[in-house]
Amino acid sequence: MILPKSNRLSPEQVAEVTRIVEGFGCTLQPIVGALRTIYAIVGDERDELMINRLEGLPYVDRIDRIQSPFKLMDRRSDLSSHRIKVGTVTLGEELLVIAGQCTIDPKNPNFFYETAQAVKEAGANALRGGVWKPRTNPYTFQGDTKSLDILMEGSRRTGLPVDTEVMEESHIHLALDAGVSTLQVGARNALNYSLLRAIGKAIAHRNVAVLLKRSIHMGAINEFISAAEYIAAFGNPNVILCPRGTTPTLDGYRNHPDESITPLLKEKTWAPVVVDPSHSVGKAAYVPACALSAVAYGADGLCIEAHVKPSEGIGDDPKQALTPDVLADTIRQARALWALRRATPS
Ligand code: PEP
Ligand code: MN
Repeated sequence: MILPKSNRLSPEQVAEVTRIVEGFGCTLQPIVGALRTIYAIVGDERDELMINRLEGLPYVDRIDRIQSPFKLMDRRSDLSSHRIKVGTVTLGEELLVIAGQCTIDPKNPNFFYETAQAVKEAGANALRGGVWKPRTNPYTFQGDTKSLDILMEGSRRTGLPVDTEVMEESHIHLALDAGVSTLQVGARNALNYSLLRAIGKAIAHRNVAVLLKRSIHMGAINEFISAAEYIAAFGNPNVILCPRGTTPTLDGYRNHPDESITPLLKEKTWAPVVVDPSHSVGKAAYVPACALSAVAYGADGLCIEAHVKPSEGIGDDPKQALTPDVLADTIRQARALWALRRATPS
């Protein structure tokens, strides 16, 4: 819909606008109001170049889009009934809980095996473990490919599917070949379109999912959904959206908790939402409340950092990881709340 700056376009302006939209296979339909005339673009109005050309006209105030720019991830797309499965859990039918260490310590694999077992006993459905780590400080531990074997051994011992972050193309192939079932895209890479494309291509014919974190630098919600569309565009739409806290603005929290965007995401896309409360608040003591809040907002799952002995962990674990007993309590409460919401939909 084209909204002109004046009450109506002049005949010359109508001719110019008509020429542009017809160049993209659309037609122009004026809608004459008592005071103002607006102009509907009839046809597929999603072409960015057409919109840019129209927005560049000095007499156009703005373009209001009727059609969604997301062909696949839009709630009204043909994929709206698509369901994503992680292990035995079908998202939307049961609360998914992914839990485990932020970072696998290759020098202490037993901690990971014990954590894996504890996470399973606490009721988690999938195991997380960081093999390659995006670190702000280049001199801190960056992860180690050797940890991939430890991750898969944790999976074998528990029977749980695993999630790990990939940061470059070589990681994608190593992880998929090893049998990782959920590739995580971290907050720092969620706007790395070449990585998103590489992931989309690599998973196109595989039964795997992607946990896409929301970037700290993302603006409007559409930017997050567009990142998911990048991956899905290659044929595998198993993309899970993961709010994990945005730019830090609250003194005391690691990031600004953003689980409250869940209803907005659900209004725009069919994609399941799995919230990461650990990175949102960044402190173990605050994580259970944030996890429950996420479920109250309608999340389909949680991704929580946990460790059998957080004080001896590495990466975020000393600060953020829940101990197995706190994790078990959190999962119990989260499942009860999820069931309550399900029984009484708002
Ligand atoms: C993580 O999951 O350990 C991690 C680094 O997450 P994020 O990309 O959200 O910071
Ligand atoms: Mn972490």
